[in-house]
Amino acid sequence: MRRAKIVSTLGPASNTVEMISKMIKAGLNIARVNMSHGTHESHKQLIANIREASKIVGQEVAVLIDLQGPKIRVDKLDEPLELKSNSEWVIGTSKEKEKYPEYKDCFIPTVYENLVNDCHDGARILFDDGLMVARAITKDRGVYKIKVEVGGTLKSNKGINLPDCDVSAPAFTKKDREDLIFGLQENCDYIALSFVRRKEDVQEVKYLLHSLKKNVPIISKIEKPQAVDNLEEIIEVTDVIMVARGDMGVELGNHLVPAVQKKMIRMCNERHVPVITATQMLETMTDNPTPTRAEASDVANAIWDGTDAVMLSGETAAGKYPVETIAMMDSIILEAEKEPKERPFLRHMDLSNVNASVMVAASMIAEKIHAKRILSVTESGHSCLKISQFRPRTPVLGITNNIGTVRKLSLFWGVTPFYLADYDEDNFDFQKDIIEKVKTDLELVNGDKLVITRGDGKFFARGSSNSVKVEIIKDRPKVPGGQEVLKEASDKKKKILLDTSVCASCQNCVHICPHDIWKVTDDELSNTYINEPRISECTMDYECIRVCPTGAIEILPMDN
Ligand code: PGA
Ligand code: MN
Repeated sequence: MRRAKIVSTLGPASNTVEMISKMIKAGLNIARVNMSHGTHESHKQLIANIREASKIVGQEVAVLIDLQGPKIRVDKLDEPLELKSNSEWVIGTSKEKEKYPEYKDCFIPTVYENLVNDCHDGARILFDDGLMVARAITKDRGVYKIKVEVGGTLKSNKGINLPDCDVSAPAFTKKDREDLIFGLQENCDYIALSFVRRKEDVQEVKYLLHSLKKNVPIISKIEKPQAVDNLEEIIEVTDVIMVARGDMGVELGNHLVPAVQKKMIRMCNERHVPVITATQMLETMTDNPTPTRAEASDVANAIWDGTDAVMLSGETAAGKYPVETIAMMDSIILEAEKEPKERPFLRHMDLSNVNASVMVAASMIAEKIHAKRILSVTESGHSCLKISQFRPRTPVLGITNNIGTVRKLSLFWGVTPFYLADYDEDNFDFQKDIIEKVKTDLELVNGDKLVITRGDGKFFARGSSNSVKVEIIKDRPKVPGGQEVLKEASDKKKKILLDTSVCASCQNCVHICPHDIWKVTDDELSNTYINEPRISECTMDYECIRVCPTGAIEILPMDN
């Protein structure tokens, strides 16, 4: 089972029900809808298609609405501009262009009204993801004179980055507000904010959501140098962090991104905030059926850094191989996860919190007894977030009757949502409705163990998990032809039998036998076995049979 999750951006290459269904089957967990492109109408159709595809495949996914933020762009151009190195231009809004006829042949129009005010002499102005670099020379009334250092061809609507300037545009624009309201109407599961710079940028949106009584988690995209400086305070007020390496690379320089990525992921891990690593992870697959080795390493290294999720952008939104890209990412992650990362987070976990301490205990128990799954009953998903951030070795099933929670859980590392769709409070039987289904789905056999966490009171009541229970499977039919699972040893007086298909390795027999006839393997599995050289010591008091909870032991006298 894969632990880290896959966020995939949907677009023209991946907007049909058929395509999205294939992508979900290949491993898509979170569908990202990018508000920088398309219309509300096209997004509405896309979200309907995502929900439809989930239904067909039988697996819910989260919908992430990614708000554009104050992205600065070049305005509409009649034709592309050739920016030659060392040439001089002026930049300003299209309105200004008419006011300065002397600059009409060297005017770069921008949609951003405050560019000239925010800029200062010597500041860099980057075009088209940093492909072209210019430097501000001097301000001339309402425009700025600039000199091109690295030239190229500039087209309409290309992005502009001002890494040296304190951009005054609000982080949350009018368009963002409209897009947010749209997303809420469509019941989106996560909202991402672009170009966040400080905690107030996040809080403004949190307050708005609170006043609208919408509890949708916020993802802060860290892509501005100021955000990297203010990371600590931003993490504090944010639900999820994104290492948005695209714009970050443009603004900081790509050489700084790997170190920032590592540091950011470590900080998020320590503070138990999920983190997504994004952009150009398998870029080559936009046009090719396989990635470069460097890209495969990039994905694996993000996993080893400790990221909760990895993200695909253009690869799946506009590429030729959306399904193959997800399948490739899935296999790279699975391989990387065979080398689990150390788990340094416990020392940072506040275990005075009931929920956290119960969930940590559950993961420790599950690990030690080699449980097949942790079953975490949750209403809001909070317990699952806690256990996910502890990075349990045992896979977790997050059980809920709340469809919104099911979708939210899609992002949590190591947690598989388990949706109890037709939950009926009056006729609900945990054993019958959940344990039985899990036993069948996972093909559990006798002796397998499950660890269950839940709160008390009403089954899916909101509140913290306050109990851990271990369920030992012992009522499964015996393995057909059970010969090889029946271990036996005999001497002249008796035959001792151990049915390993039933034995729960509880070690009751080991503790009660004073003759050391019952022993436990000292490998990871701690299986009980018959210590053959000692069986002549058995006095046939049958104490081991009495204390065995599963009826795994038989001692038959030999009649000779
Ligand atoms: P974007 O954000 O794709 O919306 O620009 C991600 C990034 O900048 O890395
Ligand atoms: Mn970006």
